[in-house]
Amino acid sequence: MRVVVARHMGFCGGVRRAVDLALRAARNGQGGATTWGPLIHNPQEVARLQREGVRVAERPEDLDGGAFVVSAYGVESAVLDAARRRGMPVVDATCPVVTRAHELAQQLAEEGYFVVAVGDHGHPEMVTLKEKLGDRVAVVHTPEEAARLRLRGKVGVLSQTTQSLENFRRIVADIVTRVKETKVINTLCPAITVRQEEAHRLVQEVDVLLVVGGRGSSNTTRLAEIGRQRGVATYHVETAEELQPSWFSPDVTVGVISGASTPDWIIEQVLQRLDEVRTQLGG
Ligand code: SF4
Repeated sequence: MRVVVARHMGFCGGVRRAVDLALRAARNGQGGATTWGPLIHNPQEVARLQREGVRVAERPEDLDGGAFVVSAYGVESAVLDAARRRGMPVVDATCPVVTRAHELAQQLAEEGYFVVAVGDHGHPEMVTLKEKLGDRVAVVHTPEEAARLRLRGKVGVLSQTTQSLENFRRIVADIVTRVKETKVINTLCPAITVRQEEAHRLVQEVDVLLVVGGRGSSNTTRLAEIGRQRGVATYHVETAEELQPSWFSPDVTVGVISGASTPDWIIEQVLQRLDEVRTQLGG
């Protein structure tokens, strides 16, 4: 059994920064730290952070004491205001790539473009963009939704930083044919596109694709979709314990890839387990 590990594994820069800032805030001896919902889409890492003093608030009444850490994709203003009202110092861990994408959207709106953002409804990055631009932006998730938009005048198109390149491409291709003037800004995060490109390359040389990361992580799920779409046996695991020896055989090549919110310690455990399986199967 041959194992090929993707080059881009583990946290992206924005997630690493958010985790470091949250841990620093939790350890500064002033009542710990609180995030609104999980800081990242990886339950095992969120549990580890909780053990280190990073609490997860689910309701406004949970916002109580310590620092409030804004996650990498931002937080809606009502929550931020509630934290401030409760006297919590705010630590802004918004990823600079997300901040930059919002600035570009704002710029488009100021130049008179109606902004179409390709993204997931309800994702904090899109919710906060909507808060900033109001009725000067529409969020669309699918080409069908984009087709239903009544567009005229100047239209600016950009993307949620973690969207799939393919989805963005399809929606842009449709919009440019429908209005007189379109300005497209590629705001996809390079950390995401590089992983998607690597997944496309990997599936050409492997028989089995093992995707490591949170099941609620959309960028991890998209990597698994790439494997399935190409007809490769694809398994998405959160932990090493989920690995089943029956997925593998001595003559297969296994590709391993991870999402941008998967910590190194989980990847190491998965690779170690894979090594045990390889030994069991006789190499
Ligand atoms: S994937 Fe990109 S945008 Fe998202 S946190 Fe990481 S670096 Fe920032």
